[in-house]
Amino acid sequence: MAAGQLVATARIHGKEDIRVGQELAAEVGPGEVLLRVTDVGLCGSDLHWYEEASIGDARLSRPLVLGHEFAGVIVDGPRAGQRVAADPAADCGHCAPCLEGRNNLCLAMHFAGHGSTDGALRTLMSWPERLLVPIPDSIGDDEAAVLEPLGVALHALDLSPVGPGARVGVYGCGPIGLLLVELLRLRGASAVIATDRLEHRVAAARAMGATAAFVVDADAGPDVSAARKLVREQEVDVAFEVSGSDEALDDAIAAVRPGGRIVIVGIPRQDRTAFGAGGARRKELTLQLCRRMVASDLPHAVELAATGELHLSELITHRYPLSLAREAFATLAERSGIKVIVNP
Ligand SMILES: [Zn+2]
Ligand SMILES: [Zn+2]
Repeated sequence: MAAGQLVATARIHGKEDIRVGQELAAEVGPGEVLLRVTDVGLCGSDLHWYEEASIGDARLSRPLVLGHEFAGVIVDGPRAGQRVAADPAADCGHCAPCLEGRNNLCLAMHFAGHGSTDGALRTLMSWPERLLVPIPDSIGDDEAAVLEPLGVALHALDLSPVGPGARVGVYGCGPIGLLLVELLRLRGASAVIATDRLEHRVAAARAMGATAAFVVDADAGPDVSAARKLVREQEVDVAFEVSGSDEALDDAIAAVRPGGRIVIVGIPRQDRTAFGAGGARRKELTLQLCRRMVASDLPHAVELAATGELHLSELITHRYPLSLAREAFATLAERSGIKVIVNP
């Protein structure tokens, strides 16, 4: 990066405090190339940073550039001009989880937009070249920013393979839940039951191929609502909890068949999950936790997106320039859409 070059950057300084400014470009490290960022998707995990200045047990320790769902064009080196999707996880490659092919569990991970690693909400950034996957022309810029969450959905599905004819529940229909609904349709699931608290997301789930979709109330309280009762009566073989709420997990526990499996993809507020133990124990359920994606998922997502069988661009409901990053986060917090994209 040319010394002294100015880069427009959006940083989070604290709860609901996003500031856009000009900064001097960072150095390009060994193995890295310069990337002109074109699209950044905002994620439910970014919402945790925005609303709580933390996620799970990680807290904001310095002003951070968020953004881990990103695509761009390589600026320098032999691949200059290539459109790419980025894997946000810079793994070490030699710790035990990395050597076992589970690099999402790397013990020395640098993840874009997390901890001390700045993410993609800036016009130019450097990123390891090996983590930049070329994207064919058949994938538009819109779709390019949704490839990372598609990779996450593929990873979740790999943790509980679903064969043709399976009945599956997806509890929570943000972008990852909706992508799961689409993937399940492609895998030939015979029933896909989807739920969300928001009507427009339930409508999107129907459009993406859910065979039944329900609006559930935010807080079940001591009495289970009629909508939740109905959801819990729809027996499924496999369940995906994708909302981070305890009520959704209880719905999944009630709906999944004895001996079944629940993949927990959602990230809870306050870093704590609670569920009704009796129902889960009586069915001897397997609760499978899920973290991000592994290295092979992004290339797989690119391949799948290139077939045109997924409705990726339909997930994108809002688009903002980087100068309006604050407004983009405010929209994310309103949950009025599905996927919010920032175009640096
Ligand atoms: Zn994400
Ligand atoms: Zn590692």
